[in-house]
This record gives sequence, C-alpha cells and structure tokens, in this order.
Amino acid sequence: MAVNILAFGPNGSGKGTQGAIVKDKYGSAHIESGAIFREHIKGGTELGKKAKEFIERGDLVPDDITIPMVLETLAKSKEQGWLLDGFPRSKAQAEALDAALKEAGMKLDYVLEIKLDRQIAKERIMGRRLCANDNNHPNHIAFDAIKPVEKDGRLVCRVCGGELSARADDQDEGAIGKRHDIYYDTVTGTMAAVNYFKAAGGCKVISVDGSMGIKEVTAAIVKQLD
Ligand code: AMP
Repeated sequence: MAVNILAFGPNGSGKGTQGAIVKDKYGSAHIESGAIFREHIKGGTELGKKAKEFIERGDLVPDDITIPMVLETLAKSKEQGWLLDGFPRSKAQAEALDAALKEAGMKLDYVLEIKLDRQIAKERIMGRRLCANDNNHPNHIAFDAIKPVEKDGRLVCRVCGGELSARADDQDEGAIGKRHDIYYDTVTGTMAAVNYFKAAGGCKVISVDGSMGIKEVTAAIVKQLD
C-alpha cells in the first residue's frame, strides 16, 4: 500500500539522510523540492532560470512556481506513495497541500519532524557535500558514518565514487540565516506548517532529537514506524 510521509527539519538536521532511509522502508518516492529546482537549474529550463536567483539568496521561490511543480510531482507518485522533503515550507503551502491531497484522494500517513538547534544546524550545513550521480548518496565531511572517501587526492562520494560539490547556498552564511529564519518561524513559516499538520490529526507524528548520531536518529525514527 502507498505510504505518504511529510519530512520536516531545518536545513542541516539530517532530514535528507533520514528521509532516504524511511522512504526505502516503504518503497515510496523521494520528492525533494530543492532537488527538483536544482535539476531544473542544471537543465537550463525556464522554471530553473526563474528559481535560480531566489535559491542563491536563500529566499523562498514564489508559490506560483513552487506549488504547481510539487503537486504535479506528487500526483505522479500516487500509486507508489511518497516522502515529501522541503515542502511545505510555509503555512500557505501547508494549506495548499492539504487541499490538494483531499482533492486527489491522498492520505497523509506520517509527519516526521527532526528537531535541531539553529546553531548546530548551521555548522552541519556547511560540511555537507552533494554527489553528482545520486542525490540519495549523503556525504558530510564531519560525520564518520557518511564521510566522503579520498581518491587521487580528492574527496569523492563514499557510495559510488562520484564527483562531490558543495551547494553555493550552503557556504553562504547570509543564505543559511534566511533559510533558518523561514524554518523556525512559527507564525507563517515552516514551523507553522509543521504545527498545521500536527493539529490536523489523522496521521502519526514522529518527533525526534536530531542532535544524536545518524544511527541513533534512524533508530529513534524506525521504532515509531508501523
Ligand atoms: P533545500 O534543498 O530544501 O534546502 O532547498 C533549496 C532552495 O530551494 C530553498 O532555499 C528555496 O530557495 C528553494 N525551495 C525549496 N523548497 C521550496 C519551497 N517549498 N518553497 C519555496 N522555495 C523552495
């Protein structure tokens, strides 16, 4: 049966790493709004051109671009189920998602929330690296469990040996600060979206402390999954 999950956590909380493990358990599609944007930018599409400047600054891409893009991707994974990461990032997006799910006859099974202090999240963001071959190959220079490996004097992906890069918005303290301002905002930001779905009920809420090691966080999540 299709299992649908929303994954929340500030940038740097390990949400991508944990999300990859959880979606594998159910065979759900991994839908990451930020990764879809990065694919568009790489491919030079019109959408990518429009989104690029917002992303580089750490601002939200406007809803008229983001919401249809994410909802279209979700609809394609209705049969498979999905784990959605990076959306909704605001109360307005939460309301749009809730309405779209109801209209499409999709049900939310889990809300996963990884909690992490803002300063720790910032330090973690700056050490992460992206694999050119697969977005689901997490690499981080400060975590032994997912440390890149050295090859010919360069660091490469620990899973596949692929090229690694750091995201420009992960090395820019101003952009990190903006992304975290949006995340921790309980009035209109991402925490407001988390609280919206927690209050709506009808799904299981899993909140874990993201300051533990990767394996410990995984264990804390997995024991609460059915
Ligand atoms: P992420 O990979 O989740 O850190 O996303 C990277 C960037 O993509 C964000 O800083 C935003 O500029 C943009 N983005 C991703 N998801 C959304 C969203 N739900 N709404 C608006 N902008 C988004």
